Amino acid sequence: MKLQDQGSVVYAFSSRNKPVAELAPGETVVVETADCFGGQVHSQEQSPETIDRTKINPVSGPFFITGAQPGDALEVEILDINLAGQGFMMVAPGMGRLGKLVKEPQLLVCELSGNSALFAPGVSLPLQPMLGVIGVAPERGEVPSHTPGVHGGNLDTKEVKPGNSIHLPVFCPGALLGMGDVHAAMGDGELGGTGIEASAEVRFRVHLHKQANIPGPRVVSPQGVYLIHSASTLGRAIDAACKDAVDYVMAVAGLPADQAAMLVSACCDLQISQLVNPLVTVRIFVPYLA
Ligand code: CA
Ligand code: CA
Repeated sequence: MKLQDQGSVVYAFSSRNKPVAELAPGETVVVETADCFGGQVHSQEQSPETIDRTKINPVSGPFFITGAQPGDALEVEILDINLAGQGFMMVAPGMGRLGKLVKEPQLLVCELSGNSALFAPGVSLPLQPMLGVIGVAPERGEVPSHTPGVHGGNLDTKEVKPGNSIHLPVFCPGALLGMGDVHAAMGDGELGGTGIEASAEVRFRVHLHKQANIPGPRVVSPQGVYLIHSASTLGRAIDAACKDAVDYVMAVAGLPADQAAMLVSACCDLQISQLVNPLVTVRIFVPYLA
């Protein structure tokens, strides 16, 4: 089942976007996603100046989820990401944390084949496909698809991958789920501003958790839960993640706040998702507690 090709996309998450299809909880769906530049990169010889960098992160969707209401949590189970045969990267002065080390804009196009990306002659990297952008309509207004937030969006969190599920708070009827910006591989931080960007087909299944009232995006893995927070500074994002982790441990383990803080300090890992978007994103991993 293929619901949408790359021709119809949006560049912001908003309750005003018109849904392209309705999905029922439990239904399995395949959607095509465009790469972060919407197919503008064709070859390595192409001048980076030909790329319109104002049109980034086309989002496939939005999908209206049957029965989703404000206060619910929408679970998106990522079943599979089927990458295109070619991916690309771009670096440029001023772009990302590595931008000050780069002299001029450059493109790299690489073949994606089997389980690896052929990065350079004799250098290949393992493919670790992930979704850079996934989100729902925010509580108010619209959020551009290059920005992360409590609605999800440009989280660039490499744990949003096959085998894991992302849970998102629902703010409007139908949730209005959208996704895009698949990376064939990306390091934590996304330091140069791109992963290995590729178009893809994403197979997923949605579920609803009624009135779960989660404070922001969460990724559930077989080993535990990642609580994801974005803010204007790393310090603010870390503070929000720490508070969420303590609240979460208090709720799931029934511990008082001080003991929950000790438990977080003993076994939860703070990790950086990305440092290159309008807000930075961190995650804190809470393992399943026996
Ligand atoms: Ca991204
Ligand atoms: Ca990207």
